[in-house]
Amino acid sequence: MSLLPLFIDLKEQHCLVVGGGTIAARKLAMLCKAGAYVTVVSPEVSAQAEKLCQEYNCQLERRAFAEEDIQDQRLIIAATSIATVNQQVSELAKAKGILVNVADDFSQGDVVLPSVIDRDPIQIAITTGGASPVLARMIRRNLERHMPAAYGQLANLVEKYRSPVSKQLTDETQRRRFWEDVLQGPIAESVFAGNLQIAEQALSQRIVEEDFTTDSHGEVYLVGAGPGDPDLLTFRALRLMQQADAVVYDRLVSDEIMSLVRKDAEKIYAGKQRSNHAIPQESINHLLVRLAKEGKRVLRLKGGDPFIFGRGGEEIETLMDEGVAFQVVPAVTAAAGCAAYSGIPLTHRDHAQACIFVTGHLKDGSVDLNWKMLAHKQQTIVFYMGLYGLSMICEQLIKHGLDSDTPAALVSKGTTPDQRVLIGDLNNLPGLVDKHAVSGPTLIIVGSVVSLHSKLHWYQTETEITD
Ligand code: SAH
Repeated sequence: MSLLPLFIDLKEQHCLVVGGGTIAARKLAMLCKAGAYVTVVSPEVSAQAEKLCQEYNCQLERRAFAEEDIQDQRLIIAATSIATVNQQVSELAKAKGILVNVADDFSQGDVVLPSVIDRDPIQIAITTGGASPVLARMIRRNLERHMPAAYGQLANLVEKYRSPVSKQLTDETQRRRFWEDVLQGPIAESVFAGNLQIAEQALSQRIVEEDFTTDSHGEVYLVGAGPGDPDLLTFRALRLMQQADAVVYDRLVSDEIMSLVRKDAEKIYAGKQRSNHAIPQESINHLLVRLAKEGKRVLRLKGGDPFIFGRGGEEIETLMDEGVAFQVVPAVTAAAGCAAYSGIPLTHRDHAQACIFVTGHLKDGSVDLNWKMLAHKQQTIVFYMGLYGLSMICEQLIKHGLDSDTPAALVSKGTTPDQRVLIGDLNNLPGLVDKHAVSGPTLIIVGSVVSLHSKLHWYQTETEITD
């Protein structure tokens, strides 16, 4: 059956819901939100429906449906559990030309209440034409992921400036380009990032500027790509990946994640392997500035979280100095990802009340850490970039007071299908690593929580190595 999608204004219109169960309540909620005057007729009323009636001041009639109930209604919902009653309601309504929806029997009514994505004032309605409401809900959930919650705010902002823009830009094509540019560029991104004021300032500024047909101001998105599994990307990261003009990415960003970046974006490899930086940090900082000043939306994509051993701070400092707009998108850091995927909770009431993230690779190549502060029981220590200094790390921790049988784990390529977990203690972990020729990236976790691994591991159990 082919349907014509329409959105109907039911504000202050009389509507009737016959039935008081959970399905009736769901439809009642939609009518109430649309501002209708609703009457509910049902001998039995669910708590959910009753609550809605109270909240929205609906008229509640605790009795069976009677023919007169359909008088002067704009829309009727038949949602009782008795098919003959639903049929009677539908026939009476149709005879009077009143719109009717029959729950669970699409063919008997003439309107459908769709599954809705609500980003007021934006609404997206989905129907499968009665084939499968469950499928409609699934589609809704899939679409929800691509609809930032702030779309509503964006629509409100655009509405506010619609008429000034129309006055200034009389050519329709020019006007369309202007709005496309605003809705896909830094102004929209500012709204999504919660910077409504900045977005509004930028928009009003562009309206008074002489040349406002194209956006010549680029922007940098400093985005964390997580530890490897593409499913761990944030919605925002994915959205920005799909709209960037240029991408500057690190070695740690997996091919799988790179394949999600916009196909025609310019892709620049920035290296960042231990002692083998494809581009020195200083040049990366200036590369980002140059690309943004060319008017590009530049995605700076980093492994894990950009602010945890990611030098993200240094990069945005340069952007700030150069007046380039940017935003930072956090991500699952390697410690969180590896801990979850290896079944080692970083804190646990019986084992550790604190967790500390440390780099095992200092600027000058040494591992000169505050060992006294690190060597504490009841604390988990996570070493990033610790593979090369592993023997020294274990030695120093023992020297500064940790027992040599303190559990220690090494997780390589965490959260990916190639993840490997080596479980030992401060005494034997370096030997285990030598024996099994581990390759990076690797993370070292030290502390009593590591002992939980044998019970809690759930991901790729066959790759666990203990001797
Ligand atoms: N910003 C990143 C860390 C960058 S430093 C983050 O928040 O995760 C690079 C180090 O991170 C690597 O040497 C390694 O110690 C760790 N690392 C990153 N991804 C990893 C992974 N998938 N498995 C294990 N360790 C990882």
